[in-house]
Amino acid sequence: MTSAPQRRRVTLFMISVLIPAVVLTGLAVQLYRQQQKLIEHDLARQGDRVHTAEQIHSVYRESNLRFAFYGCAVFLALSVTLFCRYVVWQDYRRETELADMRSQFVAHVSHELRTPLTSIQMFAETLALGRVQDPGKQREYLETIARESERLARLVDQVLAFSKIEQGRANYRLQSMALTPIVEAAARAVEPSLAQQGFTLRRVYCGCAPTVRADADALEQAILNLLTNAMKYSSDSRDIELQLRQSGSDVFIDVLDQGIGVPPQFREKIFEKFFRAPMSAGAAVPGVGLGLTLVAHVAAAHGGRVEVRTNQPKGSVFSLILPMEQKV
Ligand code: ADP
Repeated sequence: MTSAPQRRRVTLFMISVLIPAVVLTGLAVQLYRQQQKLIEHDLARQGDRVHTAEQIHSVYRESNLRFAFYGCAVFLALSVTLFCRYVVWQDYRRETELADMRSQFVAHVSHELRTPLTSIQMFAETLALGRVQDPGKQREYLETIARESERLARLVDQVLAFSKIEQGRANYRLQSMALTPIVEAAARAVEPSLAQQGFTLRRVYCGCAPTVRADADALEQAILNLLTNAMKYSSDSRDIELQLRQSGSDVFIDVLDQGIGVPPQFREKIFEKFFRAPMSAGAAVPGVGLGLTLVAHVAAAHGGRVEVRTNQPKGSVFSLILPMEQKV
């Protein structure tokens, strides 16, 4: 849907190209007619001299050629103007889109910070006032406080990591290391939240013991983002699988879920900053659209990539693919 200011801009854009085109074409037609009249006048003046049909034809042809040349020059100038305006227009459109996304992002982050803070405050106050005597309930409230604090910390970490990337200050210290312990550390970190929400995490690790050049913290965070997403977008399903496998000179860390899946038209866009597929934003799943941007950045910094495909019978498979260190 285009808004009124956008429609006004498109109209102005069209006018700014069409008016010069019409004026220049009109002028060219007028000049052409005048030139033809001048030629006819000239020929009439020289009427006493003998003109062959060939001579008359050649005078007209020369004039037509000159006009065709001027016409081409005008057409070229208009095309260049049109092209430049189109490029400026595209830049402007991208800037506007980004500005919209940024303001949405600020709204999302504020909301995401507000929600856990409210429950932490509420449960902490209830406990502090001694209103809950049942030890089971007390434990439940404390667990909620811990879980919500974790969520807050994760969000703040994501925003900080993203701002480092934006400022070009993200640097990864790559060292040769075994990959399996990093994958396992991410699985362990997410396990309490998974267990709390009734998920089963199945690990399927190859016996290949791959070695990679990696920044352990960044890589663990990227795998954690994929596992957290699998949990967030699982809908009613409670099955998540974490696979580690080797294919050629690459090693694949696959996170498989049976959740809502990613429609094909969003499979590239979900890696863009701030982007959230409409159905996840609509379903009120918490998030700010940065997790996968960070995963893609970490993958690229490790010489790898991240891919998504459909899982069977439903859900998605996110693959973090890294080059294995070659043994010499
Ligand atoms: P966030 O989860 O905070 O929205 P992400 O960058 O992690 O941000 O993900 C971007 C979007 O990609 C999500 O909003 C969601 O639409 C989609 N997405 C990510 N992971 C999954 C998944 N496992 N299943 C379905 N959709 C997903």
